[in-house]
Amino acid sequence: MADGKLFVISGASGVGKSTVLAQVMAKRTDLRFSVSATTRSPRPGEVDGKDYYFVTKDKFQAMIQQGEFLEYDAHMDNYYGTPKGQLEEKLHIGSVILDIEPNGAFNVRKARADAVLIFIAPPTLEELERRLRGRGDTSEEQIRVRQARVAWEMEQSKQYDYVVINDRAEACAEEILQIIAREAD
Ligand code: ADP
Ligand code: 5GP
Repeated sequence: MADGKLFVISGASGVGKSTVLAQVMAKRTDLRFSVSATTRSPRPGEVDGKDYYFVTKDKFQAMIQQGEFLEYDAHMDNYYGTPKGQLEEKLHIGSVILDIEPNGAFNVRKARADAVLIFIAPPTLEELERRLRGRGDTSEEQIRVRQARVAWEMEQSKQYDYVVINDRAEACAEEILQIIAREAD
């Protein structure tokens, strides 16, 4: 199937994945982003087909039935999954980045042993909470749902190929760029 390399990025909600990935992709315009499907509602500014494919639960179930996902997972009250078609198309052209949580990351690794798993960790848990709240687009209930997963997610980081701390976003992006250069080029 694929020509490019697959890079999986995980990290707790609010740690700065989107921020750092935007910087990485601005510098490496040859990388493509795997667009997941989700049943959650779009946040302000999120674009359907670019950030996610926003779908109903019925549509997501139909996609599962039709075998359209490389992996999917139910977490934080919603379904999230990686549609295979778009991923394969992008991999034929070059390397691809997936922003998915640890269960999905390990399933991707099972399907593609050469996938590179990168975990973004916060400098401190207090700073993580500050960022999540500071984003201002997540309800108090959803903040609690997300915080309930943090300890488990951090524990999973032990199984990743790389752990990078997002203290300064530019430095974190630079570290990830170096990993990509080492692994893909
Ligand atoms: P995620 O995609 O992991 O949920 P975001 O990229 O949306 O996280 O970042 C969450 C919030 O933290 C945003 O308001 C973002 O501007 C801020 N942020 C991201 N990285 C840093 C950083 N290194 N230092 C301070 N704030 C950051
Ligand atoms: P958010 O709702 O904050 O965008 O994402 C919540 C969590 O879902 C994040 O940890 C994100 O990495 C993860 N996620 C996004 N897309 C997928 C996917 O396709 N599969 C899996 N397993 N997790 C995903």
